Formats: sequence, structure tokens, C-alpha cells
Amino acid sequence: MKTELLSNLESQNPDATPEPALRLAGVARHYQTGNGRLDILKDANLAVQPGEIVALVAPSGAGKSTLLHLAGLLERPDGGEIFINGQPTAHLDDEGRTAMRRNGIGFVYQFHHLLPEFSALENLVIPQLIAGLSRQEAAERGMELLDYLQIGPRASHRPAELSGGEQQRVAIARAVINAPRLILADEPTGNLDPKTADHVFKALTGLVRESDLAALVATHNLDLASRMDRAITLSDGQIIPADLS
Ligand code: ADP
Repeated sequence: MKTELLSNLESQNPDATPEPALRLAGVARHYQTGNGRLDILKDANLAVQPGEIVALVAPSGAGKSTLLHLAGLLERPDGGEIFINGQPTAHLDDEGRTAMRRNGIGFVYQFHHLLPEFSALENLVIPQLIAGLSRQEAAERGMELLDYLQIGPRASHRPAELSGGEQQRVAIARAVINAPRLILADEPTGNLDPKTADHVFKALTGLVRESDLAALVATHNLDLASRMDRAITLSDGQIIPADLS
């Protein structure tokens, strides 16, 4: 059954538009190195639809972080266009990119990056206050999400007082608390033992599916990758389906 918060996340983001949450069209990205030019992406195309969880699997150095940074508007492409919820981004200045990132994209990293001096709940309240919600509403929404992720009893604990799996669930909650349409995750379970990783993975996928988010998840874990809707990899500067067999 859906919680009120999940329904709210959806109603703030009606799905009337068939636009992908993330679309890359002919994206190019290269770096200049001492040994010349390194082409990471040459003609990269990708669409991730609402409700879809896509695994990004590729060897180290292939360009996974580069792709996530581009999708998260943290880096600019050298060519092509990146659409977030159908909105082109190439023309945006830094302020416009920051606004689009804040409103539309949630990030989950391998390490939780929670604010250490604040409780789990406060880590969820702060981004909502920045987004303009009242403290009471922010606390109610934060508690609801912590309860959904089965860490309500840990709400008043600081990150250092939480287990690795609990820290990551709070980090996931923080990533979705302001109702983005797109989640970008870089090895979100890479630091966890297999059982905890499974628990955190289920929390992430449950949230994505129930609130119709889209997620692009870089992982080295082929078992988890095979449980996502599909897997992609990088080859010769292009995004292609990954063979997980
Ligand atoms: P992955 O996340 O798959 O390990 P990255 O996206 O971090 O790969 O990096 C892809 C390649 O681009 C690597 O060879 C890396 O050394 C190189 N690279 C990444 N960032 C830069 C940069 N700012 N300048 C030069 N080379 C870079």
C-alpha cells in the first residue's frame, strides 16, 4: 500500500508527460590529458523513463562517473544535449543548472555524505527547509519516509550512531525527500556487506517504483544489476546494452 508521502511525491509530479526523466542525445565528452585527447563519450544516447531503474555497469575508468556527472548537470558535455524531464539543459547558466539539479535530481553516493552533527531526521528536514517547506511539514514528511524505510526508530540518531545500511537508507531518503524525478546513484551499496546491500537495494528500488521515479545506478555488483529493469554499459564512446551473462 502506498504511503501518503509517496502519493504526494507523485501528485507533485504528475505523469501526464511521456518525456523520459533523463535523455541524452548525441552527447560527447572528452578530456585533454598529457597523452592527448581521451574520448569518454562520442555519441551517447540514452532515455530513462519514470519508474525505470537502469544499471550502469562498466570497468573502472570506462566513464561511469563522467556519465553520472553529466546526467546530474555537474559537468557540461562537449557536444549533444541532455534533457531532464524533457527540458534541454545545454543553454542553462550555472544558476539554471543548479536550480534544475536541486528540484529535479537526487544523488546517492557510495558513502552517505550525511551531515554528521545532525540527526537522521534533521538530515531530511534541512533540504526541505531550503526548498521552502515549514519545519513542521518537513519533519512530518521526513518521519514518514524514515518509517517507510523502516528506520523511524533511528530518527534522532546521528549518522555515526547508525549502521552502514541505516546510513545508506537515510541517504536514499534525503535524495528523494524533495520529490525529484530522477535518482543518480554511484555504487550505492558498494560499501556494504551482501545482506545489507540487498536490504538497501530493495529500499531504493521500492521507492523508485512506488513513486514513479527514474534511477540510473552505477554498480559493480552484477547480481544487483541483473535485478534492475535493464543494464547499460559504455563501449567506444557509446551507451549500449550490457551483457550480464
Ligand atoms: P569510472 O567512473 O568508470 O571509473 P571516470 O568517469 O571516473 O570512470 O573516468 C573515465 C576516464 O576519464 C578515466 O580514464 C579517467 O582517468 C578520465 N578522467 C576523468 N576525469 C578526468 C579529468 N577531469 N581530466 C582528465 N581525465 C579524466
